[in-house]
Amino acid sequence: MKCALVTGGSRGIGRAICLKMASLGYYVLINYKSNAEEAINTLSQIEEAGGDGELLQFDVADREQVKQALGGWIEGNENNKYIEVLVNNAGIRDDSLMAWMDERQWDNVLKTNLDSFFVVTRLVLNSMLGRKYGRIINVVSLSGIKGLAGQTNYSAAKAGVIGATKALAQEVGRQGITVNALAPGFIKTDMTEGLDEKELKALIPAKRFGLPEEVAHAAAFFASPEAAYVTGQVLSINGGLYT
Ligand code: NAP
Repeated sequence: MKCALVTGGSRGIGRAICLKMASLGYYVLINYKSNAEEAINTLSQIEEAGGDGELLQFDVADREQVKQALGGWIEGNENNKYIEVLVNNAGIRDDSLMAWMDERQWDNVLKTNLDSFFVVTRLVLNSMLGRKYGRIINVVSLSGIKGLAGQTNYSAAKAGVIGATKALAQEVGRQGITVNALAPGFIKTDMTEGLDEKELKALIPAKRFGLPEEVAHAAAFFASPEAAYVTGQVLSINGGLYT
């Protein structure tokens, strides 16, 4: 059975990507950190739409948890299920001007957004290499392309994932695996809830925040077999908001 693993699938962009992957026929592994209720809600929505999946709880920032939970799942399902699509979506921000940023803020944001890419992807990559097929999709940010004041930690982490996307794409191109990144601008989720939407949308050519479903649509493109010749790319989904 072909599976799509979506980290941070309990809410926001990750939930929309879970639903989209289910609509493409994938059995969806819904990862989350602590919000079991919302993760169950994602699974219910998948099932209501006629799809299937399961929850897979682990903290992407905790190497041991990733190894135990995800490594255990891969081992336990060796004969009947495999991950064909990996969406590294889980992320946090913890904004502060550099002068006020403490080590904890730096470490948490780097661990959750950047180190997680390495830990999760490395575990999944082997079976993709064995099957000579795979789709890896990393959710980055406009902040990692442009850099945003107050987000040195988050911009550094997302820029790091963009570099890793381009490097890994070159390593695994021969093996039928593509590695691409989605760079959302302002998308309506819990992450952007505290922001002044009225003021910010004046800066966006589309004059609105984006929807999680609009990011999911782009994820479906990268996940499709027909996108086999697209790799190492960063696709912006930002209503035209550039530097
Ligand atoms: P969100 O609504 O805050 O949801 C975050 C998701 O990530 C939740 O499912 C959460 O799980 C999960 N998560 C957080 N830390 C985790 C961890 N350590 N381990 C496992 N799961 C974890 O965020 P979002 O707006 O959908 O953002 C999704 C991705 O898009 C992130 O990478 C973010 O940086 C990126 N992005 C968002 C925007 C935007 O405007 N919203 C713009 C650019 C980029 P729980 O429910 O268990 O907490």
